[in-house]
This record gives sequence, structure tokens and C-alpha cells, in this order.
Amino acid sequence: MRNIIILGILVLSALVSCNEGAQESEVEIKDAVIIHEEYNKPEPTEPEGTEYYAPKVPIVGAALNGEIPSDAIVLFDGSSLDDWMHVQDSTTAKWHLNKDASMMVADKTGNIRTKQEFGDVQLHIEWSSPAEVQRAGQNRANSGVFINGIYEVQVLDNNNNDTYVNGQVGSVYKQHAPLAMASVASGEWNTYDIIYHAPEFNSNGSKIKSGTLTVIHNGVLIQDHAELKGTTPYIGWPKNPPHGKGPLMLQDHGDNSRVSYRNIWLREL
Ligand code: MG
Repeated sequence: MRNIIILGILVLSALVSCNEGAQESEVEIKDAVIIHEEYNKPEPTEPEGTEYYAPKVPIVGAALNGEIPSDAIVLFDGSSLDDWMHVQDSTTAKWHLNKDASMMVADKTGNIRTKQEFGDVQLHIEWSSPAEVQRAGQNRANSGVFINGIYEVQVLDNNNNDTYVNGQVGSVYKQHAPLAMASVASGEWNTYDIIYHAPEFNSNGSKIKSGTLTVIHNGVLIQDHAELKGTTPYIGWPKNPPHGKGPLMLQDHGDNSRVSYRNIWLREL
């Protein structure tokens, strides 16, 4: 982030006049003058004065047509679950490895997480709810993508299945309803592309800057730099325990919600 210096003054003047029962309010706000530090010097008069060549921008292989960026860390490509373990006892993940290069929640085996830990990331993950629809509300193919191990982006079969909007598919669970519902039909593959910036904590463990999540669901923006107010518990307010890097965690909702995942990769930012 570039440093900015706010040199201007916000001038707020409110004029309120009352006139025999009729109340009229006028508010005049003059814009703050924001000057970016890098421009706080004499203005160039030639085009070269505003052009720069270093540092060089890294070249990354394109991720078109289902391909993976050349600098991505592959977390699951369908070949094994060796990079994943159960949260509860750190044993290698016992979810089902399917023949179509996906994995599926194994009933009541618990959440799984990557062995590796990450901070800020661009994450790509694909998920599918069972084609055969079961149950309703929060119990219809509920899972979740937990960024940094603690911030849940909800996975749910919301097709013709209403629930509380801040817990529906694509929500930052119990914090931010999605901007749109963009799911494909039950049984088909959804994509989530998620950009996460971790919160920052001072040496006393107090949060000094909130984390953010941006989520694109099947090409549709559904979370736009949403502020993380803290963790995403089922019951209670968000909490803000200080933390560093963490794993990517996938949820076993515990009710035989047989959600599948495939093609999981991320880029560290
Ligand atoms: Mg969930």
C-alpha cells in the first residue's frame, strides 16, 4: 500500500433552520484534499518523468481453460490426499478419493486441512454438491472453505433452498451475505476464486487492521473486499485471536453432506 498523506481539511458545516414547524436541514461538505506522497514534489513536464522500469514484473504462465498459473502451489490435483490431514488428530485425510480426480467428504470423519500454512493468498477451488438433493436449509450439502483455517466462505446447496442470507452459499459465514447467488445446478461443478489478505496484529495481540476477502463464484463477484470482523462461529460474535499463517481447511459438516472438491491451488501474495 502506498502511503498517503492527508493534508486537507474536512470542513463540515451544518446549517439547520427551523421555521414554524417545518424543519429544513442543509449540510455542506467540502472534499478532503488527498495528496499522494509520491506526487508531493514538482510536477514533471515530460512524459518520461512519470514512467518507470523497475522492479521488473514477474512473468506468470496464464491460467486459461482450467490450467494452473505457473507459480501456483497445487494443493489437490486428484492424485492423492497426502498434502491433507485431519484437524482433530493430524492423521492423513481419510476423505474419499474419487475416480474423477475429486475428493469427497467421508461421513463424520471431521474437517481436513492442508499440512502447509499460508498468509495472503489467491485461492482457486472447485466444489460440487450431490445431484441427489437431500434435506433442507443448512443441512443440504453444507461444507465450507476456511481461509487461514478460521474464516469460512460457505459452501451450501442453495438451489431452491432458502436459509439465512448471511449463511447462504458464498457468504462469509454470519458476517457478509453474498452480493449474488451464482450457483450452478446441484451436482455440477462450482468454482470459487478467493483473494485473501490477512488481518494485522500489534505486539500486544490487538488487531490493528482487518483482513479482507474477495470471492468470485463461477465468474461472478460475490464478496467485494469484504472486511473480516473476526472468526466465523456458528454461535456468538466474531473473535479476533492474533494469528500468523494458517492452513486451508475444508469442512465436514457432520451430517453426511457429501460435498466434493477438486482442482485446488493457490498463489501466495
Ligand atoms: Mg459450512
